[in-house]
Amino acid sequence: MSAQPYDPDNIFAKIIRGEMPAFKVYEDEHTLAFMDIMPQVPGHTLVIAKAPGADMFELADEALQAAIVTTKKVAAAVKQAFDAQGVMIAQLNGSAAGQTVFHLHFHILPRNAGIELGFHAREMADAETLEAHAARVRAALANG
Ligand code: 5GP
Repeated sequence: MSAQPYDPDNIFAKIIRGEMPAFKVYEDEHTLAFMDIMPQVPGHTLVIAKAPGADMFELADEALQAAIVTTKKVAAAVKQAFDAQGVMIAQLNGSAAGQTVFHLHFHILPRNAGIELGFHAREMADAETLEAHAARVRAALANG
């Protein structure tokens, strides 16, 4: 059971409903992927389940499975788009674990040796940069 009850007006629920904008890179029936607005590294992308659920323990297994399969697909595209040596996948459950948005999501973080991650959810990137990065990921997804 989650320590945090699900809030249907959390920011990611609003993005799913189209009430808040996002730099989207991928969408299907069960999942949505978009650029993190406060990237810890260029190319930091989020994959969310469309089903409501604050964290992995609140979400039905089917929705969680869809989210991790989309994460794999989008992570491959992010790796290619940002010419990354490796890709870190992160998923936080509960504020004690550092979670700040209480709607299930996976972080995709392209990594290169010697380049440290920035602080979590700290510094907003500008819209032009995020759109350019989203375009790179979309192009990599289109290339398969
Ligand atoms: P968490 O701390 O819950 O694991 O991660 C939440 C992530 O959402 C953070 O990395 C933060 O930068 C990002 N974030 C917070 N608000 C917004 C927003 O309005 N739009 C987008 N695209 N990302 C957001």
